[in-house]
Amino acid sequence: MAEKTIFRRIIDREIPAKIVYEDEYCLAFEDIHPAAPTHVLVIPKKEIISVDGISPDDETLIGHLFTAIRAIAAKLQLKNGYRVVTNCGRDAGQDVLHLHFHILAGRKLAWPPG
Ligand code: AMP
Repeated sequence: MAEKTIFRRIIDREIPAKIVYEDEYCLAFEDIHPAAPTHVLVIPKKEIISVDGISPDDETLIGHLFTAIRAIAAKLQLKNGYRVVTNCGRDAGQDVLHLHFHILAGRKLAWPPG
């Protein structure tokens, strides 16, 4: 069996995380190395490696993740705006091979990103 990713271990409660939201399909927790005053990761509980691993069967799930992102932004009162980012593959800087969306907020975010 393939080794669990760090995010699977967080879902399975094998390692701790500061969880900010959870439901049947997804989990959101604070990034351990925040790149902004607010930096939350939103992940599906289903094993999906990245955007490249999304299948047509996942359309409802992906929509659900964005509904959760919106709810989290409201809960955290990100009134000045926020950025949602997902890195897909090596050149994009994806380190953890479990689909995740970064929510970044709390400072002016530069564009284009590096
Ligand atoms: P990416 O580079 O897009 O794959 O993002 C992976 C993110 O996971 C990085 O921002 C890391 O800081 C974060 N990360 C890695 N390990 C943990 C952990 N144990 N708890 C919370 N965030 C983590």
